[in-house]
Amino acid sequence: MAKLYFKYGAMGSSKTAQALITRFNYIEMGMRVWLIKPSKDTRDGDSSVKSRIGLEAEAQIIYEGDDIARIFNDTRKGETDVIIADEAQFFEPCQIDQLHEIATWEDVPVLCFGLRTDFMLRLFPGSRRLLELAESITEIKTICRCGSKATVNVRFLPDGRVATEGEQIVLGGNETYKAMCYKCMQTLIRQQK
Ligand SMILES: [Zn+2]
Repeated sequence: MAKLYFKYGAMGSSKTAQALITRFNYIEMGMRVWLIKPSKDTRDGDSSVKSRIGLEAEAQIIYEGDDIARIFNDTRKGETDVIIADEAQFFEPCQIDQLHEIATWEDVPVLCFGLRTDFMLRLFPGSRRLLELAESITEIKTICRCGSKATVNVRFLPDGRVATEGEQIVLGGNETYKAMCYKCMQTLIRQQK
């Protein structure tokens, strides 16, 4: 059977670039890629997947309540060699189950790129399901400003303070989130008390 892959990393770890490079490599080998992303990631306002280094591709948007296995069977079966998903933390848990079903029964590998945890170090529901189901889990590493591995996604408020509470999903650009090590994040929080 094909595998469900979870490739996770902090903000700014070039997950989207990795997803698009992987897509390019498959296409170069003559394989057909179905690129998808969840509707909650509306940062780009459209169906394109963009990386900060300038790579870009069109994706099919998956909405809440969509049955990905059904969409695959109705529109992509026999025409897809690999599925690549960006911002996979925003899928519903049942949609991760559907992707796993496709990998298992249709023998199509599913590569999910996304965040593991939010700004309060809580798993996203979609990431939790990926950690439970994925046959392959790998970390895309990036470093904190201190040189340690960055593992947390620090959310900054408009006044520059570090957010310690709030909604799990607040879309923002480079000024809203910064990947840091846990100690640097905690140092910032202690300084603002
Ligand atoms: Zn640090």
